[in-house]
Amino acid sequence: MTFGVALPATGRGVSLPRPRVAVRAQSASQVLESASQKPAGSREAGIQKALEARSFRRSLGKSGQYTKKLTNDPESLQRMDEHGVGYSRGGLVAQMREREGRWTHAGVTVLLAEAYGFCWGVERAVQMAYEARHRHPEATVHITNEIIHNPSVNVRLAEMGVRFIETRADGSKDFSGVERGDVVILPAFGAAVAEMRDLHARGVKLVDTTCPWVSKVWNAVDNQARKGHTSVIHGKWAHEETVATASFAGTYVIVKDLPEARWLCDYMLADDAEKKARRDEVVARFQNACSAGFEPLADLEFVGMANQTTMLKGETQAIGKLLEQTQLRRFGPEQLSTRFMVMDTICDATQERQDAVFKLTGAQADPEAALDMMIVVGGFNSSNTSHLQEIGEMKGIPSFWVDCADRVDAEANSLWHKTAHGELVQTRDWIPRDKSIRIGVTSGASTPDRAVEDVLDKVFRIRDPGFTGVPRKPAEAQ
Ligand code: SF4
Repeated sequence: MTFGVALPATGRGVSLPRPRVAVRAQSASQVLESASQKPAGSREAGIQKALEARSFRRSLGKSGQYTKKLTNDPESLQRMDEHGVGYSRGGLVAQMREREGRWTHAGVTVLLAEAYGFCWGVERAVQMAYEARHRHPEATVHITNEIIHNPSVNVRLAEMGVRFIETRADGSKDFSGVERGDVVILPAFGAAVAEMRDLHARGVKLVDTTCPWVSKVWNAVDNQARKGHTSVIHGKWAHEETVATASFAGTYVIVKDLPEARWLCDYMLADDAEKKARRDEVVARFQNACSAGFEPLADLEFVGMANQTTMLKGETQAIGKLLEQTQLRRFGPEQLSTRFMVMDTICDATQERQDAVFKLTGAQADPEAALDMMIVVGGFNSSNTSHLQEIGEMKGIPSFWVDCADRVDAEANSLWHKTAHGELVQTRDWIPRDKSIRIGVTSGASTPDRAVEDVLDKVFRIRDPGFTGVPRKPAEAQ
């Protein structure tokens, strides 16, 4: 399913489509009343937590110390272009777009996936950060985390004097350097409620760049909590977006993949005696991935589905189906609508990039169209980029994930790259020099086009040591 909203192409000065979110406001008493027939577990604490989070979000919006709006100021847009932190307007990638995503030099043909790179949510977040810096030239500006998972963007922000708040060994943020009147930017994947509360109490101005699609997931888990459902979140429990989502949920449990969801559903389908016998096993398995006081014996009677927006769409859908079937088998069709909640919260941008790689790698049986390798450009801690890398690996195509051109040594024809399993490995004699090759190229949703251009520049230099780069076209000429 999609949101039914056409996403704009990446570019400057985007005006954003609003996700359709239908959440009816309910009072605390209405919420508690509607959930009162449900088993105890940690339900009431969960409802209370969700209500408080919702009420805090509302009060923050009215505080005058909070913004989540773009201003499209031209100077910030100009600066972004100079820094190469967004959509290419005259470089190789822009010129490839004019040639159906294809470029050939010295026997190397590179083919760009149809959807790649910055999504509008990330473009918007970076733009908001540039605007915040421009609007508050005298203020100390902080970011609670990398604004997006891309090293070059974060380096540029640091060069503009934006300070990155340190994370302590226990995972908490060190806000000791944040003072009243400072400006604090929240990243595209959001921030946990507790962090927002803490910062608000310090009297700072908050610039919230949270992607509206991520906020949509928060609305989904809030809705589930207020109805007394436990949110089953498909995501990585330590990922910042999932940490933030969990903070808006009531009772929740996080499953990392389909096998783990199957394990949970098998437990849900067990008889009472087996459930009691295995209860501690469930608590131990999800000890880092569930809400405080999560009680498997009571908290899995009413469930709702939610997700980290960057997980593989097919897997999220399969987990949703599995949960739905599980509740159907347990309670029959007449109770399904009250026992299971789902709302489509998968980000189309992530899915479009994955689909485009499937398409790009879809002709391996044809020797004329097959790719010799894939290059995936994106931050090493970017979840959506790792999924793009997975596709190439899954199809048996040599696939090289790099976060920036510095990983490539053109003279030595070698590179350091990461596998989807997280290993950093070196490949020597990387680009064959004695035959024509076809390389598929894509980049994660937090990767500016300049990063792709710099990597391809190195590839061409390996084949042609005299290569001096593709001349930029003036942006106005496009
Ligand atoms: S990948 Fe999707 S959810 Fe994430 S910032 Fe981009 S548009 Fe938003």
